[in-house]
Amino acid sequence: MAQPRTNAVGVDNTFRRKWDREEFLQKARERERQEEEGRFKSKEKAPPVQRKPLKHRDYEVDLESRLGKTQVVTPIAPLSQQAGYYCAVCECVVKDSANYLDHINGKKHQRALGMSMRVERATLQQVQERFEVLKKRKAPEGFTEQDLDERIRKQQEEEEERKRLRREKKKEKKKEKAAQEEVDDVDPDVAAMMGFGGFRSSKK
Ligand SMILES: [Zn+2]
Repeated sequence: MAQPRTNAVGVDNTFRRKWDREEFLQKARERERQEEEGRFKSKEKAPPVQRKPLKHRDYEVDLESRLGKTQVVTPIAPLSQQAGYYCAVCECVVKDSANYLDHINGKKHQRALGMSMRVERATLQQVQERFEVLKKRKAPEGFTEQDLDERIRKQQEEEEERKRLRREKKKEKKKEKAAQEEVDDVDPDVAAMMGFGGFRSSKK
């Protein structure tokens, strides 16, 4: 009864599943061939898209224009009027500024703008030009310790001047007051004699 099958090598007394190595090897080779072909085909079909290198943003990112404002949001409102930051390029809404920045700096968004994430390699000349521009920009608003000292000195001088003026004003007022009191003290006749009359009459 326990006769081995004619094509079996040896006696199989286990009930484990046995793999037909030959058959699977064949299958694997077939699959590999197809994959290779597929890869080749897809490469042929779609030539690599040439996107422009990454460029500077030429606009200010507006994150705060709606800060502190109240807006009614309804679920049926168009996407651009929903709560959050709306990206008109990708037609999507992100919920906060951090995510919005991530989005506009992200691959998907840049792709939609026709840019790859690669940065153009700068030439030596470009770098030199950039240095020149920065040097020029820095020169007028350069800030040194000397400037600081100068500014402090100026401020102190101004403060002194202000104090001096105030003191003078006070002195003058005092003088005026004293003169007034003197006039009030003296008899009108005497005042007239002393030449204070005109002063007094002008007051009345
Ligand atoms: Zn976008």
